[in-house]
Amino acid sequence: MSVRVRFAPSPTGFMHVGNARTALFNYLFARHHGGKFVLRIEDTDVERHNEEAVKVIYEALRWMGLNWDEGPDVGGPYSPYRQSERLDIYREFIDKLKEKGLVYECFCTQEELDRMRKEQLERGEPPRYTGKCRNLTEEEKERLRAEGRKPVLRFKVPEDRVVKFNDLIKGEIEISSRQLGGDFVIVRSNGMPVYNFVVVVDDALMKITHVIRGEDHISNTPKQILLYEALGFEPPQFAHLPMILGPDRSKLSKRHGSTSVREFREKGYLPEAFVNFLALLGWYPKDGKEILSMDELIEKFDIKEVNSAPAVFDTTKLNWMNQVY
Ligand code: GLU
Repeated sequence: MSVRVRFAPSPTGFMHVGNARTALFNYLFARHHGGKFVLRIEDTDVERHNEEAVKVIYEALRWMGLNWDEGPDVGGPYSPYRQSERLDIYREFIDKLKEKGLVYECFCTQEELDRMRKEQLERGEPPRYTGKCRNLTEEEKERLRAEGRKPVLRFKVPEDRVVKFNDLIKGEIEISSRQLGGDFVIVRSNGMPVYNFVVVVDDALMKITHVIRGEDHISNTPKQILLYEALGFEPPQFAHLPMILGPDRSKLSKRHGSTSVREFREKGYLPEAFVNFLALLGWYPKDGKEILSMDELIEKFDIKEVNSAPAVFDTTKLNWMNQVY
C-alpha cells in the first residue's frame, strides 16, 4: 500500500504553528515512506473563508520547504483540490445517503434546538439532538416549508454502536454512538455540506491512507467513521497529534507572543531552524539528537514515536536553534 497523506487547512485565518506542525508531520511521514503529500483547501465555509488566507498557506508551506505533490496549483489525479470546486461530487454522495434512507431533513429552528438543549441540561442529561424530525410525514414537511423554514440534513446515528479505532499516537479508542450528540448535521440550511461529511468523501476519493491531524479533531473521528461505513468506504488510519501549550502550560495563543508562521518569517528566523523546532514539538528521534536537517528528519521520523502528552512551545529553544544554523 503506498502512503498518501494530506494537509487540509481551512483558510479562515492565518497559518499558526499548530497547523504548520501538522503540515510538517504529514510531509515527513509521506517522505519517510516514499508516499504522496496532498494539499487540500477546505473552503466550504463561505462566510469565514478568506482568499488572502489561502495565499498565506501556500507562502508558509513553501517557506518551510514543504512542497506538495498534489494540490490546488499543481493538480493531480484527484483534482480539483479546493472543496469549493467539489460541490457536485459531494451532492452525488449526499444522494447516495438519501437513497439508503440514512439521512433526513430537520426543520428545527435554532430556538427549538436551544430549548431542547436547555431542558436536557436541566434534567442533568448530556445535550443531544433527540431525532425529533426523523419521522416527519411529507405533509408535515410541506407545511414547515410553507412557513419558510429551510431544513438541514441530518445523518442518522445508529442507536447502539461502539465505534472503535486504533489511533497511531493515542492508542485504542472506543466511543459509544450514544455519546455523539444524536443525529448530526451534514448539510446546512444554505445547502453547503459540512466538514465531517466532505472530509470523509475527499479522504476516501483521494485514497488517503493516513489522516494525521491535531487532537482537537479526535471527537469528530467517530462521526467520520460512521460516515465511512454508511458510504461503503474503508476508513484510513488515524493519528491525532498532541496539543501545543505555551510555556505556562495553557493552550498556546497570541498571549504567548508570535504564533503565526508569517511572524516568525518576518522576524528573520531561518526556515531550517523553524522546521527543526516544530519537528520536536511532540516528537524526538530515538538517538536524542536535537539539531536535524530536513533529510535527517525525514529519515528518522516515526509517527508511532510521537508523544501523546501535550508539547510545550518554548521560543528559547527556537532562538537557540536559530543561532546554531
Ligand atoms: N480543515 C480542518 C482544519 O483545518 C481539517 C481537519 C482534518 O485534518 O481533518 O482543522
